[in-house]
Amino acid sequence: MTELAHAPADARREGITRISHWIGGRIVPGQSGRSGPVYNPAIGEQTGAVDFASVEEVDRAVQTAREAFPAWRAWSLSKRTDLMFRIRQLVHEHKEELAAILTAEHGKVLSDAAGEVQRGLEVLEHVCGIPTLLRGDYSEQASTGIDVYSIRQPLGVVAGITPFNFPAMVPMWMWGPALACGNAFILKPSEKDPSASLRVAELLKEAGVPDGVFNVVHGDKVAVDAILEHPGINAVSFVGSTPIAKYIYENAAKNGKRVQALGGAKNHMVVLPDADIDMAADAAVSAAYGSAGERCMAVSVVVTVGDAGDKLVEAIKQRLPNVKIGPGMESDSEMGPLITREHRDKVASYVETARDQGATVVADGRELDVDGDGFFLGVSLLDEVKPDMDAYRDEIFGPVLSVVRADTYDEAVKLVNENPYGNGVAIFTRDGGAVRRFQFEVEAGMVGVNVPIPVPVAYYSFGGWKSSLFGESHIYGPEGINFYTRGKVVTSRWPDPATSKVDLGFPQTR
Ligand code: NAD
Repeated sequence: MTELAHAPADARREGITRISHWIGGRIVPGQSGRSGPVYNPAIGEQTGAVDFASVEEVDRAVQTAREAFPAWRAWSLSKRTDLMFRIRQLVHEHKEELAAILTAEHGKVLSDAAGEVQRGLEVLEHVCGIPTLLRGDYSEQASTGIDVYSIRQPLGVVAGITPFNFPAMVPMWMWGPALACGNAFILKPSEKDPSASLRVAELLKEAGVPDGVFNVVHGDKVAVDAILEHPGINAVSFVGSTPIAKYIYENAAKNGKRVQALGGAKNHMVVLPDADIDMAADAAVSAAYGSAGERCMAVSVVVTVGDAGDKLVEAIKQRLPNVKIGPGMESDSEMGPLITREHRDKVASYVETARDQGATVVADGRELDVDGDGFFLGVSLLDEVKPDMDAYRDEIFGPVLSVVRADTYDEAVKLVNENPYGNGVAIFTRDGGAVRRFQFEVEAGMVGVNVPIPVPVAYYSFGGWKSSLFGESHIYGPEGINFYTRGKVVTSRWPDPATSKVDLGFPQTR
C-alpha cells in the first residue's frame, strides 16, 4: 500500500489498498482527504479505500486532457487504428487478470467476469475499423463546379460516469469509441469497484495512448457534479440507475453538453403457451440469477400466458436447488454475492414484502446457509405477483424473480408497455406470427426472440426506451460513433479559369 501524508484515514489501515486517480499518464494520489471503502463481497471485508476527487482535482484532469487533445486529434487514422489494435490485443492478453480484479471487488463469478471483459473487447474490435466508421459522403458537382462533402470530427474532452455492475465493460463501451474517434477521455468509475479502471489505464499507456488522453478520477457526487459543470468537458456518457441518469441528463444538458444517460430496467420475459418450456425455464434461471441479478439486462419478471404458468413455475422451481452459490473465485460457483451488505439486505426485504402483499414465495433466498460474512443471498422465486406490488414496481437488482400470470398475449404486452422502463424484453414462443407482432408493438429498445438477454452485438447499438434512457443516442456501435463526433459539411469550389465570373446572386443548388 502506498503510504502518503494525505492518505485518508481508512487508507492507512493495514491490508487496505489505496486506490488513487490516474491523470496525465500516471497515478495521482488524491488530496481531498475524502475516500470511500471498497469491499471484497465474498468475505464481507474492506480491502481498499478509493480517493474521492475534489472539484480542483477534476479540473486538473480536465486541463490535462485539454492539453493532450490537439496533438491526439491530429493523429492520422491509420496511426490511431494501429493503436486501437494494440489496445485490443493487450486487453485480450490480460482478460483473466482483469476478470480476477472484477471478481475481487464486484463479487461476480470468474467466468462471468471474463464474459464481461469479452463483451467489452468486442466493442474495441468494432472500433478497430474506425477509418471505415468515420468515412464521410462526397457529392461531386452538387452545383456547377461545386462539390459537397461531409466529415465527422471529435468533440474534444468527453467524460464517462459508470455503474458498479460492469466495472470493465461499460467503461469500454465509452472510452473505446471515444478514443477511436479522437477524443480525450475522463472516466469516473463506480466507487464500489474502481480498481479495474486503473489497470486498464496502465494497459492503455503500455499500448501507446499519449499521456493525458485517458484519465480516471474517482469519487462520488462531488466529482460527478464537477464533471457536469466543467466548461472544458464537451460530452457526458452515463450508465447507472434511473434517478441519477435523469439528474445527469438534465444537468449536463443545462450546461450545454451533449449527453447520453442510460438508466435502470425492469426486463420482462413473456412466455406463450406454445413455448419450449424447458428452454424457457433454463433461460429464465440464467437471466434472472446470473451475476446475482445485478445486470441491467437481467430478467426480473416472467409473464406467463395461459397454461404456460403452472408448467414454467414448476420447471424453474426444479432448477433452483442446482444453482451453485459461492465465492466468485471458486471455479464451480455459478452465482456470487451481492455488491454490499446494505444492498443484500434491501434485496432480501422484497421477499418478505411480497409475501405480505399477497405473492406466493416459491423459493426464499434468505434460507441460504453460508459460512462467513460475505454478502450472499440465495435465489428467490415469487409467483402470483401483481403489478401494484413492490416486487413488480421496483428494480430490485438482485436474485429475485417475479412471475406474473396473464390470460392472453394482449394482456402480457399491455403489462410490458405500461411499465415505466423499456430496456430489454424477451418473448418465448414457436409462433413466428406472434413474434412479428411482438417486435412491432412492444415498447423496449432491445428485444429477444427466445433469447433472454438480448444485448446487441458491438456493431449495433445498445440502449433502452422510456425511463431506461435519457437522451437521443444509444451507446456503442453506429450511434456511439455519432455521439462522440460532430458532423461538418464542406461546400467547395475551386477556381476554373474557363467558367469563373462575378455573380452577386444567392448561390443556387441547381
Ligand atoms: P448508480 O446510479 O448508483 O451509480 C452510477 C454512477 O453514478 C456511479 O459512478 C456513482 O458514483 C454515480 N452516482 C451515484 N449517486 C450519485 C448522485 N447522487 N449524484 C451524482 N452521481 C451519483 O448506479 P449503480 O448502483 O452503480 O448501478 C446499478 C444501476 O445501473 C441499476 O439501476 C442498473 O439497471 C443500471 N445499469 C444500467 C445499464 C444500462 O445500460 N441501461 C447498464 C448497467 C447498469
